[in-house]
Amino acid sequence: EELADLRLELDGIKVSRDDVPKPVTRWGQMGLTAGTLEVLRTLNYTNPTSIQAQAIPIAESGLDMMGLAKTGSGKTLAFGIPLIRHIIDQEPLAPRDGPISLIMAPTRELAQQIVRELKPFLKAHHLKAEAVYGGAPIKDQIGLIKKGGIHVLCATPGRLIDLLTSNSGRVLSFTRVTYVVLDEADRMFDMGFEPQVTKIMNNIRPDRQCVLFSATLPRTISALARKVMTDPVEVNIGGRS
Ligand code: ADP
Ligand code: MG
Repeated sequence: EELADLRLELDGIKVSRDDVPKPVTRWGQMGLTAGTLEVLRTLNYTNPTSIQAQAIPIAESGLDMMGLAKTGSGKTLAFGIPLIRHIIDQEPLAPRDGPISLIMAPTRELAQQIVRELKPFLKAHHLKAEAVYGGAPIKDQIGLIKKGGIHVLCATPGRLIDLLTSNSGRVLSFTRVTYVVLDEADRMFDMGFEPQVTKIMNNIRPDRQCVLFSATLPRTISALARKVMTDPVEVNIGGRS
């Protein structure tokens, strides 16, 4: 598989509408929090990648968005940096509140990897994330969720449905969820998760923001995206449009 170039290449950025924020090529010009800037410095991420330069300003302006870019192009922080800002704006979380952000990913490994990558950014802002997935005891995950204080829940769609329909009472509340991420949407669809994703989205308040990331955007995915998103802006890096 061909890996993406991490260099910022403005020519390769295509956006479906022009009434949206333009790409920002420097971290220092994005209005990021001091905590986020400090973590980026620590990680030695000198500049945003192409998808980050365009997706972060659009997502931070509150729009629904579909981001299309190759594997390895930095999509996690393209949704993760706006996620931090969104949560800070929505704080505080009451002890019994459910998550403010919900991230859906196709596999356990990906769910864990996303949480791992966002950890330093969350930690710098005293925010907490948990990953939940199938193939592990649901009881432990229910226990984690019931303890509360989780700002970000990163889940596979199947396990999320299990948690929603669990017979040990209402475990998971979506009332605070206002920032939803569908990561690796193409893989979620290849794995047959479309009905679960649709069902979950129908249980989330309509004034949520939703961003979707994918390496490819077949017609089936853009059709679903239009059902669960509001007028999404499409950002396409280096692909044909
Ligand atoms: P994708 O989701 O598009 O496949 P990732 O978000 O997993 O890509 O990022 C790929 C790798 O690049 C990760 O190791 C990540 O930590 C690193 N990375 C992300 N953003 C930057 C950046 N701006 N500068 C340098 N490295 C980055
Ligand atoms: Mg990714």
